[in-house]
Amino acid sequence: MANAFNNAKSQLDDIADLLGDLYDKQFLSKALRKLKKPQYLLKKDLNVKLSNGKTKSFKAFRSQHNDARGPFKGGIRFHQDVTEDEVKALSVWMTVKCAVVDIPYGGGKGGIKFDPKKFSVDDIQKISRAYSRFLAPDIGPWIDVPAPDVNTNSQIMAWMLDEFEKTVGEHSPATFTGKPIELGGSLGRTEATGLGGFYVLESYAKVRNLKPQRTKIAIQGFGNVGYWFAKYAEDAKYEIVAVSDSSSAVIRENGVDVQELYEFKKANNSFSELKGKHYDLISNDELLELNVDILVPAALENAINNKNVKSVQAPVILELANGPVTPEAEKALLDNGVDVLPDVLANAGGVTVSYFEWVQNLHGYRWTKEKVHEELKKIMDRSFEEIYQIKQDKHISYRKAAYFLAMKRVIDAMKLRGRI
Ligand code: NAD
Repeated sequence: MANAFNNAKSQLDDIADLLGDLYDKQFLSKALRKLKKPQYLLKKDLNVKLSNGKTKSFKAFRSQHNDARGPFKGGIRFHQDVTEDEVKALSVWMTVKCAVVDIPYGGGKGGIKFDPKKFSVDDIQKISRAYSRFLAPDIGPWIDVPAPDVNTNSQIMAWMLDEFEKTVGEHSPATFTGKPIELGGSLGRTEATGLGGFYVLESYAKVRNLKPQRTKIAIQGFGNVGYWFAKYAEDAKYEIVAVSDSSSAVIRENGVDVQELYEFKKANNSFSELKGKHYDLISNDELLELNVDILVPAALENAINNKNVKSVQAPVILELANGPVTPEAEKALLDNGVDVLPDVLANAGGVTVSYFEWVQNLHGYRWTKEKVHEELKKIMDRSFEEIYQIKQDKHISYRKAAYFLAMKRVIDAMKLRGRI
């Protein structure tokens, strides 16, 4: 399995030549050296007394990658495959992402290595609170602002916020984003990542003259991000022909019914029982190989790698997951003329609305959902346009253009602070 942190570092190296036109060689190599490791890495074995009376140890991490442009910002993941390197990679991508959309944050990411499906709600709450106590001295609205990621949600943010506030002895809603509305969450946060991805799709369709009715899409992953993206794309008349969860993929040539699949998923554990109900089942691997116009990986990193890239037929990849295409796989795709719309742009809608949530919390004020969607669209459209212009001017990939734009912003901030 490719190491996500090595991938993140190699993506930074990939733009060294381009940045070489802007900065002195020695200065740039110093900057890149700094950016290839987090400023701080917090890690601890959390010992948590579970409801069965037994104490269990959980490996917990928080990587605070770079805060030159503002407080560290990034989600918290609960997953059995969480590693220190994965968290570090995800924190680098957050630094890049926040700079791509030009919101005043740096990058961070956290994770606990465990499979939440194997624990009761009570135990998940205990683990979440223990993690929040561990982070408490090192997070806050002007230090580091965590949010949900894979297998974490607004309820988990509520427990973490409550524990944090108990520890510091005051209300501090702007310390976490992705909270429930009742505790200062923003309207429009739940759908933000999928909706932001949809805005990127619309901008891309405009420059490539794609017609929704003639654009077939397959989506890997039908969680928060995959579902909301599918819903907005379906409403706009794109044809969603296949979606998958971790167990299997469902396909229907003339388009799936996104809401029906959502309801099914809510009532059942997996798609595997859908066979025969107007749907066919295929494997997850087969979904990635479908002859569609746009392939949307919206599950986990390394989904498209050097083993399966030869079988990918789609001419466009819209990365809604973080790091779903490895650098080697991307090279092969680009050589074949495939457009890869990178994660640091395509899934930036989530952190953008998290930023709106933080702004609202700091002002003690609430925006309407319409205002959130409108402001999100402005930022996503502007970011696509900026990246597209750089891509066209320099004849480079979308990812390189995004990294060039972002790293210039980050390196300039580091320079102004005298850090290099
Ligand atoms: P989620 O836990 O809600 O959903 C993940 C989905 O992926 C589930 O449907 C799961 O069954 C599926 N899945 C897991 N392994 C799979 C596999 N091998 N094949 C197919 N499907 C598989 O998580 P999410 O919040 O939707 O996040 C998905 C991705 O988007 C992650 O990479 C995350 O880091 C990224 N992301 C999320 C947000 C956000 O706001 N939630 C923001 C930016 C990026």
